[in-house]
Amino acid sequence: MNKRSIGIPIQLMAIVLFGCTMAQQSDQARKSNVQFMPMESDNRIYYEPRAENIARIVASYLPESIATVERELQRPFVKPVQVKIFESADSFAAVTDVSKQEWGVMISGTVFLSGLVKTAPDDHIKALLTHELVHLYLQQRLGVSERHPTLPMWFEEGLAELVSGGSAMAMVTEPEATRAIMAGQHFFSDAAGGLVHPERCKYGLESHMFYRQAEMFVAYLQSLDGTKFQSLLLALADGHDFEGSWRSILGFSLHDAWQKFMGELESRARDPLNKERR
Ligand SMILES: [Zn+2]
Repeated sequence: MNKRSIGIPIQLMAIVLFGCTMAQQSDQARKSNVQFMPMESDNRIYYEPRAENIARIVASYLPESIATVERELQRPFVKPVQVKIFESADSFAAVTDVSKQEWGVMISGTVFLSGLVKTAPDDHIKALLTHELVHLYLQQRLGVSERHPTLPMWFEEGLAELVSGGSAMAMVTEPEATRAIMAGQHFFSDAAGGLVHPERCKYGLESHMFYRQAEMFVAYLQSLDGTKFQSLLLALADGHDFEGSWRSILGFSLHDAWQKFMGELESRARDPLNKERR
C-alpha cells in the first residue's frame, strides 16, 4: 500500500496539526448558512467562494484518491462521493462542530476539508483526502458512524492511515511509536466498536501517536496473512460485522495478534538495522 513520509517543516507542523476526527454529530452541517459553490469541472466538489484554489488541488487528486481506496479496499464506492471545502478553519469548525485544529472530517456521507489545508503541501492534502475517503467508503459499505460504530476505532483509523500513507507517519516515527508501546503507552486492542467518544478511544494518546500505532498494528495484521487480511476487508465491504468476520477468517484471537505484534516490535528494537526503517 501507499506508504511514504511526507516532509513538512517543523514550524508548519506546530501550526497546522494534522487531524481527522470521527464526527460527533451529523446535524450541525445542515444548520449552517455557509454557502458552497459547485465546482464546474467536477460536480462532486463544492467550495466556499475563497477556497477555489484548494478545490482545484483537491479536484486534481480526487480520481486517484478514489481509485486508491477502491483498489486497496477491493470494492467500489456504492454512492457518489461528495467533498466540501471551507475557506477557513473558523467556518469549518462552525459547521462541523469539531476542533479548528482538525483538518478534515467525514459527516453523513460528505467529506469536509478545513481551510487549514491551504497551508499544507499538496501531497499532504492528497493523503488527508484519501484518509477521509476511507471513512466515507466504510460508512457507505458498513454504515459506520458515530451513532452506529461497527468497527473499532483503532482499526478504522489504522486502515485509513495505511491506505492513504497518512500524515501521522511524518509526525511520529516507527521507533518513537515502538518505544511508547514498549513503555505501555499504547491503545488497547479490543474488537468492540469504539467510536462513541473519540478522545477516550485514543486511550489517552496524542492523536498522531494513536494514528501511528494503529497504522503499525493494522499493517502488522496484514503482514501476518495478506490473503486472509484481504478476505477480512472484503467481508467488511460486503457488510459483515468486524468481530464475526475476524473470528471466521483470521483464525486467531486479537489478543494473540497483539502479543505477536509486541514480540515483533521487541525483535525490531533489538536489531539496530531496523531501528530507523521509516
Ligand atoms: Zn480518520
